Amino acid sequence: MEQTEKLYYIQPPIFQFEATVLQCEPLQEHWQVVLNRTAFYPEGGGQPCDFGTLGNVSVIDVQEKGGIVRHTVTAPLCVGSTVTGQVDAARRMELTQQHSGEHILSGTLHAMFGAENVGFHIGADYLTMDTNIPISDEQLAKAEAYANEIVWKNLPIDAVWYNKESLSTLTYRSKKELDGPVRIVTIPQADCCACCGTHVQFTGEIGMIKIVDWQKYKSGTRLFVVCGIRAFRAFEQMRGETTAIRTLLSAKNGALLQAVQHQAQELENARFRVVQTENELFSVLAQSVDPNQPVFLQQEHLSTDALRRLCSAVSAKTSHLCAVFTSNENGTLSYAMAQTLPNADLRPLCTALNQAFCGRGGGKPGFVQGSITTNFDAAVAFLQANL
Ligand SMILES: [Zn+2]
Repeated sequence: MEQTEKLYYIQPPIFQFEATVLQCEPLQEHWQVVLNRTAFYPEGGGQPCDFGTLGNVSVIDVQEKGGIVRHTVTAPLCVGSTVTGQVDAARRMELTQQHSGEHILSGTLHAMFGAENVGFHIGADYLTMDTNIPISDEQLAKAEAYANEIVWKNLPIDAVWYNKESLSTLTYRSKKELDGPVRIVTIPQADCCACCGTHVQFTGEIGMIKIVDWQKYKSGTRLFVVCGIRAFRAFEQMRGETTAIRTLLSAKNGALLQAVQHQAQELENARFRVVQTENELFSVLAQSVDPNQPVFLQQEHLSTDALRRLCSAVSAKTSHLCAVFTSNENGTLSYAMAQTLPNADLRPLCTALNQAFCGRGGGKPGFVQGSITTNFDAAVAFLQANL
């Protein structure tokens, strides 16, 4: 079969075209169609495929192999018939903005810091790109600023096919050794890279390149990036969240950080008062225990730390076992057990308790803490029987 004529590389882009159906074969619950020509970009080079319609049927996947483009469609088409293809232009533009933006940023990171791009993928919400070396926060900020200057200069992007001989005179980025004619995408002052994807004609169409997050990845850095319409959407989402938080905190515009800092301080003060009050309560409870026998106490609404403090306060008054409990929202029971005898070891009792009530936890010989799936009475009965 002859190679498919690739209309998706034509600039300015073609979104509507006529083509002849050369082949239509069932593929699981769908059909796979080969045309003599297509403007549907097939998945490749980190860029997802185009969607759209062929006649009245939907194109839901496009793949290319050996120069032949195959469209997965939702209903069969007549072989030999002429169909009108309609590419989802908005989707293509969004993906193209991401791809061109990635080239500018990758080329900039390469030129500025010698970073190689070792991974690129356009996901549903953002694109990810991986570098082979770590990039610092300052370096990222510098590269991002420069990449956006390239966008705003509205420079022409050029894609040219080179054969092996003419390619040897060229310096360009590439992830792998390439054979046969190679398509080189050049962005002045930013990048020269082997690429099979779609690109905007002028960098200004990208609008903006924004790194929204980054993290250590293998030996380098993984960047999460949004370009063009995705940068606009990301800004809209952040603005929505910021407005909601400002409303919650009754903060004036521009005073959000101050309001959050104030809230954090208030919370810290409140926590301090709670601990003070709890400690006073625990001291009273400790005074009320009988020091001549084991102590079993249930006190509700205690944090793990508060349970530990209660246990310590009570066990300071007796050399017998002291076990305190608090119920959790998920129906489990948290416990803390202590014994101040010098040679006491509560760990075997803790293990037995966990085994009896599907629990977990452990600790030091004189103090253990954990949670079990039972109620206070059953736990106390078990401990009394196993002392
Ligand atoms: Zn590319």
